[in-house]
Amino acid sequence: MAKRDYYEVLGVERGASEADLKKSYRRLAMKFHPDRNPGDKEAEDSFKEANEAYEVLSDASKRAAYDQYGHAGVDQSAGGGQGFGGANFSDIFGDVFSDFFGGGGRGGGRGGAQRGSDLRYTLELNLEEAVRGTTVSIRVPTLVNCTPCDGSGSKKGSTPSTCPTCGGIGQVRMQQGFFSVQQTCPRCHGQGKIITDPCPACHGEGRVEEYKTLSVKVPPGVDTGDRIRLSGEGEAGAHGGPTGDLYVVISVREHAIFQRDGKHLYCEVPISYTEAALGGELEVPTLDGRVKLRIPEGTQTGKQFRLRGKGVAPVRGGGAGDLLCRVAVETPVNLSRRQRELLEELRDSLEGDSSHSPKASGWFEGVKRFFGDL
Ligand SMILES: [Zn+2]
Ligand SMILES: [Zn+2]
Repeated sequence: MAKRDYYEVLGVERGASEADLKKSYRRLAMKFHPDRNPGDKEAEDSFKEANEAYEVLSDASKRAAYDQYGHAGVDQSAGGGQGFGGANFSDIFGDVFSDFFGGGGRGGGRGGAQRGSDLRYTLELNLEEAVRGTTVSIRVPTLVNCTPCDGSGSKKGSTPSTCPTCGGIGQVRMQQGFFSVQQTCPRCHGQGKIITDPCPACHGEGRVEEYKTLSVKVPPGVDTGDRIRLSGEGEAGAHGGPTGDLYVVISVREHAIFQRDGKHLYCEVPISYTEAALGGELEVPTLDGRVKLRIPEGTQTGKQFRLRGKGVAPVRGGGAGDLLCRVAVETPVNLSRRQRELLEELRDSLEGDSSHSPKASGWFEGVKRFFGDL
């Protein structure tokens, strides 16, 4: 049977880069891999063909020989075109298929000890607690080692017996096509032992669900999304594996007065029309109590006053932020006759002099220009 051109096999141009070759080979290998096409002779042949082509073209000297002499140039050196058992095949295999078989290699293979899961607990705090820090008790459901069997899963006094399927190795070899694949034993899930007499308290699981109460120390300055790790307070590991961690995730509730943005706090302070015009001293709230704030005369609505250091000291260090108070001028309502008269008098005295209302005069100028340009 005449061999197909290697470039054609991989579906790439003659000048294809190494990366393109690899990409193309990877795609074909995934498609035709015997594990995905059990018993399909055609797929197996395509897989072999792609392997052979890649083995030659990924080797610079073999590729040069192939480019010059065709199949004749590489058949001797490639060992009759078998393509298998070549020195670098395992490299290619490991590289391309690492995500195929990656799962089996972790956790040390046999033994089956698994780290317990990490747990997540959302802890709601109010702003004061988040800023000052606090200690709270939380109750979390978790899996703990079963006491009667001491986590083994076997009834007290009995011991697990060697798995008959894998003979205690925890791995079995499966022949698939021409491929021999090592797999975790399906009977004992890689532990090499099976529980013949399960513990009645945990039904052989070795772990039971339990609520536990933990004391969580929240440092000052935390914010929504910050996590506190309680090492070893997650779920117990399976078959003697290490315990997972518990992550306490902070969620800070909205505050009636303050909004927080990182280390700065913001609040809105209503001031009267007359205070804004005449100036004066305001009492504004901070997290440490009330402080006095001087308002200069002629303060406009929306003006922001900064109280340095009255914000939040961030949990990761650095100085405290500021408190930014934004004043909102309030229009007086429910006026008495007398108050109305006073305001009317005020209006008349202000009228005609734009220097009393810098914003409005600027605005009217703008409007005039706008219509003039039309
Ligand atoms: Zn087994
Ligand atoms: Zn038990």
